[in-house]
Amino acid sequence: MMSQQNDGRDRIHKIKLGVAVVLFIVAGALAARSLLQDSPADYANDRGFKCSECGHDYAYVIRSGDFEPLECPKCHQRSAYQAEMCFWTKGPDGQYVAKTEPTLVLLKSRIDPTSDEPTYCPDCGHEVVGHNPRPSEALMLEASGREGRD
Ligand SMILES: [Zn+2]
Ligand SMILES: [Zn+2]
Repeated sequence: MMSQQNDGRDRIHKIKLGVAVVLFIVAGALAARSLLQDSPADYANDRGFKCSECGHDYAYVIRSGDFEPLECPKCHQRSAYQAEMCFWTKGPDGQYVAKTEPTLVLLKSRIDPTSDEPTYCPDCGHEVVGHNPRPSEALMLEASGREGRD
C-alpha cells in the first residue's frame, strides 16, 4: 500500500520534471529563433546613400538624430542623401529589363524639396521616383538567371 503511493508520487515528480525540461527547451528555441529573426530586420534598416558632390554611394544604417544631408564618408562634405534604387537596365534590343544589382540614384526632389523636376537613372535613363517600384518578381528571376546568379 505505502510503496504504491510512493511510486505514484515519484511518477508525478518525473512528469513535472519532464514538463519543466520541455518548457526550458521550447523557451530556448523561441529565444534563438527571435535572435535569428532580428538580423534580417536590421538589414532592412540598411539604406543606400549617395553623395551629391562626389557621387560616392554606400550602405548606411540610419541612427536616431541623423538628418540629411549626411557627411559623405569619402569626401567628408555634408552632401549625402538617401538614394532610390533603379533595378532597370537596357537589354540588347533597347528594351528595359531588370537587373539584380541596383544603380543608386539621387532624386532631384530629395536634394531640393521644392524641385518637381523628374529624375532619370544615369545608367539606363528610366525615370526614378520616390520608393522607386521594382521590376516584378518574374522579371527579377529572369534577371538573376541571365546574370548567372541562380
Ligand atoms: Zn562625397
Ligand atoms: Zn537605371
